[in-house]
Amino acid sequence: MCKTKINSDIIMPALFVGHGSPMNALEENEFTQAWQKVAQNLPKPKAILVISAHWYIDSTAVTVMEKPKTIHDFYGFPKSLFDMGYPAPGLPKLFDEIVDLVQPLPVVADVENWGIDHGAWSVLKHLFPKADVPVVQLSINALKPLEYHVELGRKLNKLREKGILILASGNVVHNLRKINWNAKTQGEIWAKRFDKAVLNQMLDKPSEILKVTGHPDYELSVPTPDHFIPLLYLAGLASASNEQVNVLIEGYALGSLSMTCYGLGFEGFKTISV
Ligand code: ZN
Repeated sequence: MCKTKINSDIIMPALFVGHGSPMNALEENEFTQAWQKVAQNLPKPKAILVISAHWYIDSTAVTVMEKPKTIHDFYGFPKSLFDMGYPAPGLPKLFDEIVDLVQPLPVVADVENWGIDHGAWSVLKHLFPKADVPVVQLSINALKPLEYHVELGRKLNKLREKGILILASGNVVHNLRKINWNAKTQGEIWAKRFDKAVLNQMLDKPSEILKVTGHPDYELSVPTPDHFIPLLYLAGLASASNEQVNVLIEGYALGSLSMTCYGLGFEGFKTISV
């Protein structure tokens, strides 16, 4: 992997991970093994800023707890999943840096509502199993248009020069109504078409990622925007840094989820196909 240096600081890579089912937290499967391979290419960050599909609220907020709680924001899964925790510390002082970077956009400090949700910890369990790197979450502001999230991603790019790993966690294709529980690692034809269109746009011109909202399969692939929006942050980061996006993992789950992962700072990484 290429680690670009500016003023002797390593520029941290950035990731968009397709997280899929919460069961990935517990399981060892093709996807979690691929995440572990990605992790082998990560330097140890000072902190991780997670933008998770599962913190979708009516403001732009940042967690500021010393000890963020593990949030089990799902139901109908085994008790062993509810028993899991991810006891990483927080990093309250990151809030001020984020406020400075993204101004004049307003950011709210979240003192007690959120913590680390499963969009974050189901992936972090595999990337940083020791939970020894501070984790801060940035909410997705559901009231804002899609352009806002690309722009916010652009503004956050400077955090990477300060040793912060940005992890956006969602799914490019995410249609729970169309799930086929028997199609463990398969995707429907429309899911593949849309995922491929997004991939081409991310490789070609991520600054214009919103072009994909005009794709004929967009409505079926993105029936609600929550899991799609995290990708917009990586697109924003890529357009701010002018780096080539790398496709880290390609794959599908349960027919109507794409598990595609993208990275910045992964020059030479060979795409893992699941
Ligand atoms: Zn999810």
